[in-house]
Amino acid sequence: MENEKIRARIKVSGIVQGVGFRPFIYRLATSLNLNGFVKNMVTGVLIEVEGSKKSIETFLKLIKEEKPSISRIENIQVTFLSPIGYKAFEISKSSEDLGEASLVSPDIATCNKCIEDILNLNNRRYWYPFTNCTQCGPRFTIIKALPYDRINTTMRKFKMCKECEKEYNDIFDRRYHAQPNACPICGPKIWFEDKDNKNKFFNEEAIEKTIEAIREGKIIAIKGLGGFHLACDATNENVVKELRKRKNRMFKPFAIMSFSIDKIKKFCYVNEFEESILSSNERPIVLLKKKEDVNIIAESVSPKNNYLGVMLPYTPLHYLILKELNDIEAIVMTSGNIKDEPIVIKNENARFKLSKLADAFLMHNRDIYNRCDDSVVTLFNNKILFIRRARGYAPLPIEIPIISKKEILACGAELKNTFCLLIGKKAYLSQHIGDLENIETFNFFKNAIKHFIKLFRANPEVVAHDYHPMYLSTEYALNFNGERIAIQHHHAHIASVLAEHNINESVIGFSCDGLGLGLDNTIWGGELLLLNEIEKFKRIGFFEQVCMPGGDLASKEPRRMALSYMVNALGIDNEIVINFAEKTFGKKMEIVLKQIKNKINSPLTSSLGRLFDAISSIIRLVDINEFEGHAAIMLEHIANENVKDFYNYNIKGDKNLIFETKYMILEILEDLKKNIYPSIISSKFHNTIAKIIVEAISLTSEKYGINNIALSGGVFQNIYLLKRIKENIKENNLRIFINELVPPNDGNISLGQAYIAAKVFD
Ligand code: ZN
Ligand code: ZN
Ligand code: FE
Repeated sequence: MENEKIRARIKVSGIVQGVGFRPFIYRLATSLNLNGFVKNMVTGVLIEVEGSKKSIETFLKLIKEEKPSISRIENIQVTFLSPIGYKAFEISKSSEDLGEASLVSPDIATCNKCIEDILNLNNRRYWYPFTNCTQCGPRFTIIKALPYDRINTTMRKFKMCKECEKEYNDIFDRRYHAQPNACPICGPKIWFEDKDNKNKFFNEEAIEKTIEAIREGKIIAIKGLGGFHLACDATNENVVKELRKRKNRMFKPFAIMSFSIDKIKKFCYVNEFEESILSSNERPIVLLKKKEDVNIIAESVSPKNNYLGVMLPYTPLHYLILKELNDIEAIVMTSGNIKDEPIVIKNENARFKLSKLADAFLMHNRDIYNRCDDSVVTLFNNKILFIRRARGYAPLPIEIPIISKKEILACGAELKNTFCLLIGKKAYLSQHIGDLENIETFNFFKNAIKHFIKLFRANPEVVAHDYHPMYLSTEYALNFNGERIAIQHHHAHIASVLAEHNINESVIGFSCDGLGLGLDNTIWGGELLLLNEIEKFKRIGFFEQVCMPGGDLASKEPRRMALSYMVNALGIDNEIVINFAEKTFGKKMEIVLKQIKNKINSPLTSSLGRLFDAISSIIRLVDINEFEGHAAIMLEHIANENVKDFYNYNIKGDKNLIFETKYMILEILEDLKKNIYPSIISSKFHNTIAKIIVEAISLTSEKYGINNIALSGGVFQNIYLLKRIKENIKENNLRIFINELVPPNDGNISLGQAYIAAKVFD
């Protein structure tokens, strides 16, 4: 009986295609003397093996234990059948099947073996910038459809040469079925294009020209994995300033790329955890603390900012450029786009749009199908905190706590938009799309939705959108066929936390951000919510409301909020108020004061983000935002962790708690009069907000008997605030959850919408 043969049919789903999974199965099966086959399906990998029960058990165990490092197994399904007498083990042709599409791998940073290849003078891929293998290279950015075969990618137009084909078909080769496999003979090519004299230089010469140009202080548009970058010497103040001028961007930090951790350590603090994230397969931009007394990186790279956004090379091209530039510690690698537009991905667009920004181009002819920005993360509590989730992470799904009965498309918010396709338990969150304020970004949004629907073979029956009727994402949803559901912004923020932490029970949420339209049609943004069920919420508290003089303009101009809070605390005729108005608005002051007084175009808001803006302007740090969150980020950066003082505040009401901030504003103005340092004021302000949040949580958690607390919204990107909240929590029965797989900002709205919609239709 022991030796009786059985047949097992095994379905493996997850990231099991294009990662060396079938060769691994082949080696494993043959080593155990199992006959049968393995093949790619749309839904994953299908294996059949015949042999003794014992060896099949070992086989199943080893699949899990020894799978290729970049593969990810979601599920293994086994059925036992009677044997049909396979004579050998083979890898069969891919076939189509019905069912849930398999996972699409994100792009993976170049592996060490491929780096060895491109540095080896005797290797045919010496200095070849498109070198990749099953363990690394482009994936999401080149894929058009499943199954993940070359003809379904933008590599389709390159016919493999004999040698590449040999590797591709050799089960023992690292490039066995590496879909983007290529070499200098048959693969994509790079060239350097001078903007002025139109001269072109190819291959190695293109890299040399690029290096030369960067050394000379020029700005080069370099085509990468998910789009173009604008690159220049990050240690050269003049060229960085020039880039700022051309990009019309004075303050928003530029990301930089450095050759190695050792180099980064010369100008930033890097702990072990940060090191592991920097060098992970995902290679995100990591925000690192600058070393104070070091002047290696030009100040203009991230002016008046304590942090630098740093990444390591993630393609062979980056690697070669930075290796050759060994005397330069880092280069700027900022998105190649015109302000507010998505990054450029096409060569002809680059020539047209980036020619005012760049002096020359380093281009290539491997098309980018899915645009994808670099991801940006910061670290809190030895975990990643996403600022932007894109390359390296998208389009991996996030598993929600329930199986959705319907396929759902959630369209997200307006700023920092992402959308989400929910199929079963899997929420396929899109890469960061951006601010849907202009037509180009809106087109990107629409096309990306089309791509996702095709890629994951979805057929959304329900479309979820923000409660705000004027968002372009809402407009899109309203034109989409299907059942529609409007979801309040802050409700969605909280639900996103629940979705990723697998919570399907009552929770108290504190949702703090810039703004979202409330159910009472005022602007919300500092909301304490009670969710007895995921799909329903009650607003049980909010920050004291003030008006936003000028409406939308008040989001862009912190000075407007400053004035509004000051009027709220002191009255409109107060001398301090008038003085501030004069100083910050000049001739325009009468208009703004009138807006406040007569409540013209001045909606009420409880937004905590706007309060951060106000404080930033009251202490004259930032009066006008250059980018979303600008004033608040600067305010965080000057805060000092050693300051433990805080201001007076008051929590009033019982049905609805109101967090009064008047007293704090008065004390801040007192501090200003006493010439207290802005950094101390900022610290005391942060400490006060942390206290209010913790007290509100404690009060309500006790009152409603709920221990699950969720925090979400852009305000919780503030690390200083998060640390203080953590320190202030005394109750150890509270379970505090924050976003870990998606950003706390509006990038998580679509995930929250999807979860709520799934509960509504459950
Ligand atoms: Zn590789
Ligand atoms: Zn070749
Ligand atoms: Fe928000």
